Amino acid sequence: MPELLAGKTALILGVANKWSLAYAIAQAFHREGAKLLLTYQGDRQKETVGELGSALNAAAIFECDVTREEDLTRLAETVRQHGRLDALVHSIAFANREDLTRPFLETSREGFTLAQDVSAYSLVSTARTVAPLMTEGGSVITLSYLGATRVVTNYNVMGVAKAALEACVRYLSSDLGPSNIRVNAISAGPVKTASARAVAGLSKMLESMPTRAPLRRNCTPEEVADTAVFLASDLGRGVTGNVLFVDAGYQVMGF
Ligand code: NAP
Repeated sequence: MPELLAGKTALILGVANKWSLAYAIAQAFHREGAKLLLTYQGDRQKETVGELGSALNAAAIFECDVTREEDLTRLAETVRQHGRLDALVHSIAFANREDLTRPFLETSREGFTLAQDVSAYSLVSTARTVAPLMTEGGSVITLSYLGATRVVTNYNVMGVAKAALEACVRYLSSDLGPSNIRVNAISAGPVKTASARAVAGLSKMLESMPTRAPLRRNCTPEEVADTAVFLASDLGRGVTGNVLFVDAGYQVMGF
């Protein structure tokens, strides 16, 4: 079978370790022939992401904290050195742990702003940074969750950030569509990762999926990654402004 991403270059933000959804996406993109540019957030991740990226022959592995303007400037410079960009995968989110355990009503202004900045605004700032490098069109992909539109116990401030993120997807798709840059979100079902572990009650969510979801199981990182391949490839050329659920169908269920 031909490689779906042969000749394409993808920038992937959010690999922290081998459990990260961004890592599953990087593996799938590598399998499909993409050239990879990976970022990590801080020195803490440098060695791990360096090793994971080298195993995937990543062309660049560099630091980018999306809250720092100077990092976004460096991001643009580093990506430019690799020529045209075809895909941006934004797989990052952050909220203070206490805001994912106590009632949403108790969310502080600082905690609210931080979650919005890292988890939603960063899609706007990174898309703006790399869009000029997508000279032959491109695909911007972010990761969302059902808590954007439904109340999920303890998801709280992150649910509000994901609601903003999904709205950003729609507005960005309108701005970038004339440049043939598509913008979509994948709404993944729960997967045990470092970020997900910060949400109190993750285990209960994972346990309820096989009893409630139409496919009677949890979704896998590989399924999320293959959907990202579709969106980054020419097969997804007509899809923009969407939220695609990869959650074993859980989102359609009522009582
Ligand atoms: P993860 O491995 O912990 O990935 C989250 C990433 O965000 C980490 O690499 C983290 O870096 C990075 N990050 C946090 N603050 C950042 C900043 N200021 N600048 C740059 N990077 C920053 O967890 P994940 O589950 O794969 O999360 C990836 C995405 O999928 C998130 O948007 C998450 O909300 C979404 N998602 C996850 C699930 C799930 O159940 N796992 C379901 C639906 C959607 P550090 O580790 O250094 O903080």
